Amino acid sequence: MVQRNPCIANIKAGYLFPEIAKRRREYAAANPDAKIISLGVGNTTEPIPPHINEALVEGARRLGTVEGYSGYQDEGLLELREKISQVFYGGKFKANEIFISDGAKCDIGRLQLLFGEETGVAVQDPSYPVYVDGSVLIGAAWKHNGKGYDGIDYLPCTLENDFFPDLSLVSENTLIYFCSPNNPTGAVSTKEQLTALVKTAIRKKSVIIFDAAYSEYIRDPSLPKSIFDIEGARECAIEVNSFSKPAGFTGIRLGWSVVPMELKYESGESVNADWNRVCSTIFNGASNIAQAGGIAALDDEGRKETRSLTDFYLGNAKLIRDALQGLGISCTGGDNSPYIWSHFPGRDSWEVFSEILEKCQVVTTPGAGFGPAGEGFVRFSAFGHRQDVEEACRRLGKL
Ligand code: PLP
Repeated sequence: MVQRNPCIANIKAGYLFPEIAKRRREYAAANPDAKIISLGVGNTTEPIPPHINEALVEGARRLGTVEGYSGYQDEGLLELREKISQVFYGGKFKANEIFISDGAKCDIGRLQLLFGEETGVAVQDPSYPVYVDGSVLIGAAWKHNGKGYDGIDYLPCTLENDFFPDLSLVSENTLIYFCSPNNPTGAVSTKEQLTALVKTAIRKKSVIIFDAAYSEYIRDPSLPKSIFDIEGARECAIEVNSFSKPAGFTGIRLGWSVVPMELKYESGESVNADWNRVCSTIFNGASNIAQAGGIAALDDEGRKETRSLTDFYLGNAKLIRDALQGLGISCTGGDNSPYIWSHFPGRDSWEVFSEILEKCQVVTTPGAGFGPAGEGFVRFSAFGHRQDVEEACRRLGKL
C-alpha cells in the first residue's frame, strides 16, 4: 500500500475545532437535558441581509438563462475585483493584483505553495491555527517538540507586550503570518506597530501574509484596516480577506487576496505571476453566484447592510466583555473585533474550558489550542443569536 504523507503524520493533534466539537458531543451525551450555547467557533449565525441575499438569488437565476449564463471565472469577475480595489484600497490596486477566491482560509492554505518547504515561517503566538497546521502540511514546519513545531518562529503576544510581538524574534527570509484584528486575542495593531512590522519584513527580506478577515469590525478610525495603509507594504506583503465575517458568507465562500506587482522573490521573479499560475492550476475560481452576492455587498446598500451586521456582532461582544469584567475577569478585544480574550492567570485553558462547559453549558475555545502563549486564556466568540448571548452572559455568573 502507498505511504502516508509524513507531513500529515507530523500534525500533533486533531484540528482545534473538531476537538472542541468532540468534547461538546461527549458532554451533551452525558447531559442530555443541557441547553448548550456555543460561543466557541467563529461561525456566523445571522441571516444574509436582504439586498445581498437578493443578489445571490438573482445570480443563481441568471445562470438558468442563455444570456445570463457564465462558466469558469478563473481569478474572478472583473467588476468584483475593481469594486474591491475601490472600496477597500482607495482604487490603488489594478484588477490583476486582486484574486477572488473561495475564502481566506483556502487562500492561506494555497499561498504557501509559492514559497515551498525551505522557507521558514513566523506566527503570532497565539494564532489562527491554519497558519501553523498549513505550514506543517507543506513541510515547512515539521516535528512538534512539546512546545511548538520546529521550523516556526513563535512570536509571543502577551499581556506584557500588549499583544504585539517582539519583532526581533523574526528570522531572515521568513514568511510572517500576521492577523489584525487578531483572532484569537482581539487585539488590533496600530499604524506605528504595522509600520514596524513592514520595516522588519523589508530589513529581514521576508514576506508578510496579512490576514485582514476582521477588518470590517474596526470602528476606531485611527487603526489601519489593511497592511497596504502602510508605506512600503507593496514590496513585502500579501493580504488575504473575506466576505465571511462582514457579510455572513461563511457557508457561501468568497474571499480575495491582494498580490502587488512590486512583490518579488529573491531571484527577482514576480510573486503575482506565480500566484496566477497556482490559482489557475489547482483552483478554478469562486462560485459565480457568490461573486454576484459579493458585488452587491460592496454597493451603497450592501455596505449599509454589512455595517449593521458587524454592529450587531460587536453589540454581542460588548455584552460578553461587560459580563466577564463584571465578574472580575480581565479581557481584551471585543471593541474593534468579534473576539474576547479572557485571562485566567495560572490556569490550564482546557480545564477552564471544561469548567465553563460544566457550570454554564457554554462552549468557549481554550487559548492553548491557538499556541503555547494562549495558555491561561479562553476565547469567547461574539458570533451568536442575541438571546443566546444574553443567556450565556447570565450563566457566566455561575463561575
Ligand atoms: N482568517 C481568520 C483570522 C479567521 O478567523 C477565519 C475564520 O474564522 C478565516 C481567516 C477564514 O475565513 P474564510 O471563511 O474566508 O475562509
